[in-house]
Amino acid sequence: MSTSEPIALELTARYATEFPELGVPWKAAEASDPRLLALNESLAAELGLDPEYLRGVEGVRLFTGNHVPDGATPVAQAYAGHQFGGYSPRLGDGRALLLGELPDGRDLHLKGSGRTPFARGGDGLAAVGPMLREYLISEAMHALGVPTTRALAVVATGDTVYRETPLPGAVLARVAASHLRVGTFQFARSTDDGELLRRLADHAIARHHPHAADAENPYLELFASVVGAQADLVARWMLLGFIHGVMNTDNTTISGETIDYGPCAFMDTFDPATVFSSIDTGGRYAYANQPPVMQWNLARFAETLVPLVDPEPEEAVRLLTEVLNSFPERYQQAWTAGMRDKLGLSAEVPDAEANDLIEELSRLLNATRPDYTGFFRALGAAAAGDNAPVREHVGTLAEGWLSKWRALGPDQGSMSRANPLYVPRNHLVEEALDAATAGDMGPFTDLLVVVTDPYTERPGRERYAQPAPPDAAPHVTYCGT
Ligand code: AMP
Ligand code: MG
Repeated sequence: MSTSEPIALELTARYATEFPELGVPWKAAEASDPRLLALNESLAAELGLDPEYLRGVEGVRLFTGNHVPDGATPVAQAYAGHQFGGYSPRLGDGRALLLGELPDGRDLHLKGSGRTPFARGGDGLAAVGPMLREYLISEAMHALGVPTTRALAVVATGDTVYRETPLPGAVLARVAASHLRVGTFQFARSTDDGELLRRLADHAIARHHPHAADAENPYLELFASVVGAQADLVARWMLLGFIHGVMNTDNTTISGETIDYGPCAFMDTFDPATVFSSIDTGGRYAYANQPPVMQWNLARFAETLVPLVDPEPEEAVRLLTEVLNSFPERYQQAWTAGMRDKLGLSAEVPDAEANDLIEELSRLLNATRPDYTGFFRALGAAAAGDNAPVREHVGTLAEGWLSKWRALGPDQGSMSRANPLYVPRNHLVEEALDAATAGDMGPFTDLLVVVTDPYTERPGRERYAQPAPPDAAPHVTYCGT
């Protein structure tokens, strides 16, 4: 007979112990009436955690940071970062805590757990809507095959958060390969402590890019590996029509995972200039700018590595620049391979022919501005000879292109695994979060089911695959919510 002994969560304090210079041990604010709103049971199972325990009093207190497991030393992490191009030497977790590392080496982290020494003017809190938003979109991204932090749980705190209106407060518990960011390296570099920078780089290599340890120049190889991972990541975003919205260097990971789902959104109507974030008035983080912005962020990362890469700064800059300059090609390769999958083109189709077809399609999308997700899904039917769904998006303007493409024998089966039917569409996300804020979790749960199984058509769920009604107000997203 098994006993009802709870399976205590084991956490290590590896980062807290190894990097006292890069964090402040801290305690979460006490939640007055914590209540579990969402628990990711499949992620819990993957981590070997018992959902019964997590749903219990101690588990819920764990998710607000008010129960600290044995061995854990929660810390607010320090980092710097370029925000919209301007450098802030001291950002750090203003409303977040690293609880510690899970047995598989990943971080368990809380967001919305109260003010820390890095809070500056902020209240350290988060509202139910934005935390559920991160849960929904990060889990959708995971289901879409995109490297991302994961959402483990959202707990309502029972306390009120004041934004434009009073809102119910919440804490998000997330799991990530790590929370090392370009901004972490910028902070370490700014201390002028060369030994700290080297330890940080060695830690990043061991955790995320272990092959670099055996390279002739491990720190140059670390850089190359992060460049490759981020080029692949941004290509995936672009193929899905995902707009991160706040690609500051403190939101650019060393692991290559997508992090921080504040103002992000999926593009509805195709338009390279799409911006949703209320504060991105210059369009710095517009859809089409994401690849060059990532390269810019990686240049900031390269600057931090100069002292590690070569004793001669000029030689280090030369070596790092050479690697940085490989970003556009690496990105283009990943994007083209992904676009070939979206078009169902087999390996036999020569590159030149595929590239011509893709370029012509880009011109067509620019001229017709269809619903991005819907258009690519409709191509699946066209592969089998039925142009009607494509015509719903672009009329008969694609007929010439469709015949050329169909002559290459696109594979409908592989297309249906590359072009999602369901993405977290802005109007559906808003609807689900408004209901949750008012106390009804039903729409959130329903939407989560379809977006976490995005390629499988579900009878009765047609509404989830439809674009926003044409009279819907333009979608606007916010940072620091
Ligand atoms: P972001 O770009 O949204 O990831 O956050 C940028 C910085 O602002 C980070 O240092 C956050 O910790 C901090 N921050 C955002 N919202 C708050 C808040 N409500 N209270 C304290 N710090 C915050
Ligand atoms: Mg952030």
